[in-house]
Amino acid sequence: MFCGRFAPTPSGALHLGNALTALLSWLHVRRAGGRYILRIEDIDRARSRAELAEQACADLRWLGLDWDEGPGVGGSHGPYYQSERCALYEEALVRLQAAGHLYPCYCSRAQLMAVASAPHGLAAEGPVYPGTCRHLSPEQRQAREAGGKTPSLRFALPDEPIAFDDLVAGPQHFPPGAGGDFIVRRADGVIGYQLAVVVDDALMGVTHVLRGGDLLDSTPRQILLYRALGWPVPRFGHLPLLLGPDGTRLAKRHGAVTLAGIRAAGTRPEEVVGHLAHLAGLIDRPEPVRPQELVPDFDLARVPRDPIRVPAEALAALNGRTGS
Ligand code: GLU
Repeated sequence: MFCGRFAPTPSGALHLGNALTALLSWLHVRRAGGRYILRIEDIDRARSRAELAEQACADLRWLGLDWDEGPGVGGSHGPYYQSERCALYEEALVRLQAAGHLYPCYCSRAQLMAVASAPHGLAAEGPVYPGTCRHLSPEQRQAREAGGKTPSLRFALPDEPIAFDDLVAGPQHFPPGAGGDFIVRRADGVIGYQLAVVVDDALMGVTHVLRGGDLLDSTPRQILLYRALGWPVPRFGHLPLLLGPDGTRLAKRHGAVTLAGIRAAGTRPEEVVGHLAHLAGLIDRPEPVRPQELVPDFDLARVPRDPIRVPAEALAALNGRTGS
């Protein structure tokens, strides 16, 4: 069955970019008559806050979005908070380890930064890991363990290129080893984003992953994890990021860009949805509309591939400054 999801990290308030991703992934599922899941990605507990998770749920409901499974609703694929799914991630780790895909890495962040001259890999993760610990002998490993170092665990990238057809961005090709061997469990025990997302999407039966374009280069890694774990690979679509009127990534300096801030400015949810739908090419004018009204004509093909610049007038309107 067609299944999509929205998976916010509760380390900050939902902003317009998140709202666009939520809206489009919801429309995609509702148009297809599928199942929509909300999952809270609070795996990194130090960075996550329970009240932000609650706020995210409230923001989404305010916008007019609902979910078939997730917080407040339940469902047969829970729990829907990553912090409650650790046993599932550990199981996957055991399987990956047994199949020889993982190795312990003793490098500290400082060491990695020191070897990290260009080139840079995945934007979000900093430098490409040079593979220092991949070929350690058992004796070398023992020596490091004896030195009291707790290793992280890395996934050893196979020597194969990865290609996939993105539902929004079109055909994608990544050379073998793109991004370098990545961490699946940090030295402090926290499970890596890539692994948690793959385990969750696979076990929740997600068939279509629509998410922000900043995660496009995570996808080859996730495809490798699906293959290593013997799970069917879903379709991926990476949505355009929102930019401010000046062409830089949309941020506070452009005005209230969180849903909470926009709501506090007195803006109605239909106005937010209208602006988002207009920016995404779904409607001709930024007129108020409810998500449900957009379902019959929804077509992902209309959504632009490139980042979308939010005009100053749209931001002013969302900040309650129209006609003043
Ligand atoms: N939790 C991620 C975020 O908030 C999204 C992960 C995903 O959609 O795969 O950016």
